[in-house]
Amino acid sequence: MGFRTRFAPSPTGPLHLGHAFSALTAFDRAQAEGGTFHLRIDDLDQSRARPEWEAQIHDDLAWLGLTWPQPVWRQSNRLPRYRAALETLWARGLLFACSCTRRDIQAAANAPQEGAAVLGPDGLVYPGTCRDRPRSVAMPEDIALRLDMKKAMQAIGNVSFFEEAFQPGEHRVTPEQMIETVGDVVLARRDMGAAYHLAIVIDDADQAITHVIRGADLFEATAIHVVLQNLLGLPTPRYHHHRLVRDDTGKRLAKRDDARAIALYRAEGRTPAEIRAMAGLPPPASSV
Ligand code: GLU
Repeated sequence: MGFRTRFAPSPTGPLHLGHAFSALTAFDRAQAEGGTFHLRIDDLDQSRARPEWEAQIHDDLAWLGLTWPQPVWRQSNRLPRYRAALETLWARGLLFACSCTRRDIQAAANAPQEGAAVLGPDGLVYPGTCRDRPRSVAMPEDIALRLDMKKAMQAIGNVSFFEEAFQPGEHRVTPEQMIETVGDVVLARRDMGAAYHLAIVIDDADQAITHVIRGADLFEATAIHVVLQNLLGLPTPRYHHHRLVRDDTGKRLAKRDDARAIALYRAEGRTPAEIRAMAGLPPPASSV
């Protein structure tokens, strides 16, 4: 199978230097491999996604010299696909409905009999409050759905993935690790019908992505993605978690770092080559 990678920004703010680094790293690699680079719009959170940010993403990436095939997928168009995957997990008894608020979870996790609260890649490890409530045959709507991690890991056992950049090598994901340090992750948010982990795993598989290239901040979440791939019978791509672009004080750039927005650099008259250099990337292969 040919090399396929993607850049999947959320249209909730301007692209900054960190995004440019990520997109260019993926694009350059696809070029070097004679493969394909896809743009995908992660707009699952419709309360924060804006069409003007989406348009700006297309514009900034094209200005940087990137090209990608059409049509560009949008997660907001794919909800029925995500719900169908949730239905299969529900039918297998691997999900449960959860009405806990963040506050409820905090309070339950800090209860004296619970021991020390564990912080996982998705926040506090869920203390299990709703896990043993009776489950209906039909999957409920309008309520958060969590993966019962213990049952999930009983179904698949140890799984693994290959990381190319950040801690390179084969990584084993064990039931103990997932149950103790990750827990019952949310796969459908009440307000969105699906959640990030589930949506990107399905998108990557349906788009036949062979290499996921993204920031090292998502390395920890990869174990969750690999578990979902195994539960849903989807292939596990190779992973490449790259370094994060940091500001002068060493802090990683966030959406609010509008000072490093690509649009602003463009308005100041900077060139794409300067953006590459600022992000610490070599000139594009075609120009050397
Ligand atoms: N929309 C996600 C983000 O910007 C994509 C993460 C991923 O590449 O898996 O963080």
